[in-house]
Amino acid sequence: MRRRAWDVLAGGSLVLLIAAAVMWACSERFYDETGLRVGRQTFGVDSAAGDTSWVWDTDFTSEPRSYARRVPLKGNMYADGMAHYLEHRFAGFGFRYRYDGAGKARGTTFRVLVVPYWFLLVATAAAPAYWVMVTRRRRRRVVAGMCAGCGYDLRVSTGRCPECGKEF
Ligand SMILES: [Zn+2]
Repeated sequence: MRRRAWDVLAGGSLVLLIAAAVMWACSERFYDETGLRVGRQTFGVDSAAGDTSWVWDTDFTSEPRSYARRVPLKGNMYADGMAHYLEHRFAGFGFRYRYDGAGKARGTTFRVLVVPYWFLLVATAAAPAYWVMVTRRRRRRVVAGMCAGCGYDLRVSTGRCPECGKEF
């Protein structure tokens, strides 16, 4: 990947990492929900008790066109995490594509995927962590008189690295 594009990707990922960390802290005290309705479809993200919940409802018109709400987590149905009411759960993740069981939720069009914040942090930390590693290695090589690209010893070379052709 080109270096500039890689810098932008790692920087963007760092911003998401920080946002996820802040939202995680908020999720221990609040139940947040935000979403957008397009026609009869609603797309939303909820946050509570260390989890995020990604919602796609294909037949839902009771919300306004867009919404953002915050209520205290204490006493809320999501106080124990957002996956506990879903049929399919694994390691803190959960999902529902449709619900065929009995009761009020039967035949629901409410699709939901629960992703815990720890996973979002790990996922968004990967690119910045790799960026730091690569940048430190590059700096170390330059200081030691080696090619920043491949590590070849440049102390007797001029202009270009004889190994990989990189200018220095
Ligand atoms: Zn080189």
